[in-house]
Amino acid sequence: MNYLRRRLSDSTFISNLPNGYMTDLQRPEQAQPPPPASTTPAKSPTAGPTPPATSPAPERKPQTSQSTGAGFFSSITNVVKQTAASAGLVEQTQVTTPKKFKILLVIDEPQQEWAKLFRGKKVHGDYDIKVEQAEFNEINVVAQANGTCNVNMQVLRNGTKVMRSFKPDFVLIRQHAFSMTQNEDFRNLIIGLQYGGVQTINSLESIYNLCDKPWAFAQLINTHRKLGAEKFPLIEQTFYPNYKEMVSMPSFPVVVKIGHAHSGIGKVKVDNHSKFQDIASVVALTQTYTTTEPLIDSKYDIRIQKIGTDYKAYMRTSISGNWKTNTGSAMLEQVAMTDRYKLWVDTCAEIFGGLAICAVKAIHGKDGRDYITEVVGSSMPLVGEHQAEDRQLIADMVLAEMNQSAEKEANTPQRPTTIQPSQGAGQKGEIVGEPTKNGAGRPPQGAQGFLSQRPAPKLTLKFPAEDAKEKTHKDFHS
Ligand code: ATP
Repeated sequence: MNYLRRRLSDSTFISNLPNGYMTDLQRPEQAQPPPPASTTPAKSPTAGPTPPATSPAPERKPQTSQSTGAGFFSSITNVVKQTAASAGLVEQTQVTTPKKFKILLVIDEPQQEWAKLFRGKKVHGDYDIKVEQAEFNEINVVAQANGTCNVNMQVLRNGTKVMRSFKPDFVLIRQHAFSMTQNEDFRNLIIGLQYGGVQTINSLESIYNLCDKPWAFAQLINTHRKLGAEKFPLIEQTFYPNYKEMVSMPSFPVVVKIGHAHSGIGKVKVDNHSKFQDIASVVALTQTYTTTEPLIDSKYDIRIQKIGTDYKAYMRTSISGNWKTNTGSAMLEQVAMTDRYKLWVDTCAEIFGGLAICAVKAIHGKDGRDYITEVVGSSMPLVGEHQAEDRQLIADMVLAEMNQSAEKEANTPQRPTTIQPSQGAGQKGEIVGEPTKNGAGRPPQGAQGFLSQRPAPKLTLKFPAEDAKEKTHKDFHS
């Protein structure tokens, strides 16, 4: 039987078969297990009723029952049909697979419970939202050029290691994709999600582009040129691609910012020439770029945030006296949103194709002037008393975006979806063709043109049958 399956799954073999060969295959096989006493003759399941054998040959014993024979022969027939279908010899049966939910992957720390914000919410009126939440270091991504993107997740839940594998319909990214501290470079995952055509907030393009602060700062330089220093007061900054160029002296004191790091890491205040040389020697070990800025005698930090159409402005004043107000203790106060602040954040929200969630950081000096230092995207930490409200705003935006994507999908003519039998079809856990069992493998719109150029795609997706498959640690290692 296995031999037969193997032979039949060779499409060349099938297409070279002489006429009538398939009919021959449907004849009862002689080497059946000996049946208990029964007088019911074997029937071919496909060729209609078979007349009883007039003179049964001694070696050809009657079948045990009609059903046993039918099961066996239908198995052969199915193999023939399936193989012929995969070889394009017969018309394929279309199987539509309605999907009951959309999967939202939230990349955030576990303390922030996003699932409860989506409880009871529907996408496009029909689909529930299944929230999967993990940190960057708990996931991996496999993406294919046909637009499928499989996320493998391994998280600790109440002391148990849980593994899941699923295809996200949407991703909300609330963690930094890159930081130059150890093991915090997840740009490969951003590439994977982009490759798989996954919808996200903010866009993957913007997230990738914000992974180098000087690269993002270059955008702010453009804005500064457009709007002028009065409207958009950008801090003076010098970029050094590596330590070798750190020979031209800035005017002191300066702040040296090494590479791409967060939470004040890699920021050093330098007062004089010899300290600057010392820092340059440290930069030599890091193999990264550096920027320098004049040290602003600061009164407070400013943060203007924009979540969709919601704007908030904050000032942060150091209490402990650290020149970095994000280090040590500080006081945070919400302040009025002015037109000036709104202009800053609105223009910054236009970079890299648009930032749905962003914040502009600035320093307000004791000289009464503002100095814009940075723009941050959807990974920005939420601050102040209104964090719960901000989180809800983000959730609402995600929901609106998911609805929009679903609407677009509904209005886009889909390529007929078929579940194609092929080699090894029917094996547990192996899904052949697309979409997957619950329809999650449908390619995004961008990928459809690519696929539709191929007459008979035969995609073998070796994913688990369910969209989200959970395994315990024990299962994983067994
Ligand atoms: P976060 O991750 O919190 O955004 P970060 O690592 O991006 O921090 P910065 O915001 O650039 O670091 O700097 C940390 C703090 O240092 C700022 O909040 C500000 O108080 C102070 N600071 C930064 N640059 C300057 C400067 N040029 N002059 C004076 N103070 C500065």
